[in-house]
Amino acid sequence: MERDQLEGLRVRYPLENVAAQYLRLRRSGRTYVGLCPFHPDRNPSFYIYPATQSFYCFGCGAYGDVFTFLQRMERTGFPQVVAQLQTGSVPIVREVLPEPDFPAAVKSLGEDHYALLDAAVDFYHEKLLQHPTMLKILAERCISPELIKRFRLGYAPANGLQTYLKRRKLSPEVAEEVGLLRERKSMLAGRIVIPEIRAGKVLYLLGRATSPRQLLRYLGLPLPKPLFGADTIRGAAKVWVTEGVFDWLTLTEWGYPAVALSGTHLKHEHIALLAEAQSIYLVLDNDAAGREATAQLQKQLGSRTHPFPLPPWAKDVNELAQQGGQDLFAWFAALKNAA
Ligand SMILES: [Zn+2]
Repeated sequence: MERDQLEGLRVRYPLENVAAQYLRLRRSGRTYVGLCPFHPDRNPSFYIYPATQSFYCFGCGAYGDVFTFLQRMERTGFPQVVAQLQTGSVPIVREVLPEPDFPAAVKSLGEDHYALLDAAVDFYHEKLLQHPTMLKILAERCISPELIKRFRLGYAPANGLQTYLKRRKLSPEVAEEVGLLRERKSMLAGRIVIPEIRAGKVLYLLGRATSPRQLLRYLGLPLPKPLFGADTIRGAAKVWVTEGVFDWLTLTEWGYPAVALSGTHLKHEHIALLAEAQSIYLVLDNDAAGREATAQLQKQLGSRTHPFPLPPWAKDVNELAQQGGQDLFAWFAALKNAA
């Protein structure tokens, strides 16, 4: 591996943009700060220095660069990380940063972009319905066939999108603009695809890894990330907020109006969506990051917000569902007057 090539990867994959897939980062002057993923961290002590492309944790002393970070996060070796980055299967994530720097083409999406996203959702949905292994993975996570149809969940194969788009007279260039294709490669290949659809319009696609060999568990398009499930909370007085999209799907299946943050920080337009809700129940992940996020959301959303802790044996709502916890959840929700 040439030094130049490594430098090239470093430029293409800024540490803060990569790390933001895993951590909630907030900007603090010239650094980004978050809870350290390498030790139980209560106060954010994990610092990223964009100028030197390095990180340092004041709690446990972990330090390194983008390669070290990915090696430790994914528990894999240096060559594997380099190989994954070289294939271009890890996009540069921009949407998590305070000042998004989107490619000019996607600053405002036009009708051709929306038509393309819609076609992609159709294609992925069809592929999922033809894929028994993926359907099984979803069934194991308690995602029912009804949910799959209702929310047009999909599966992105490695090939076929281009041909499909051409058949529908849509341009692969537009697919490049929204980040679905890069150099003709499908960016979400091998992932379960969860779209955010509002009033029939596809705004965003999120890809969830289906194999531990895929470097990022969640991979989204380089577009502004929405709250997932906005259509399901319209007019609801009691609204639930989850971290993961599978948690949101689970709650929807159980009949609770819910949205998923999916790693996004609450921005103005997100808070506006929650304006009508009289009570907001925060059922975030059962870990330090989840608790920190809960405290932050309480500050942002005010006194109508109520934390809803999960039993210690469930990491999140979806895991609770997998362990048969629906009745327990309903009981606890009734107790808290949340149902
Ligand atoms: Zn640490």
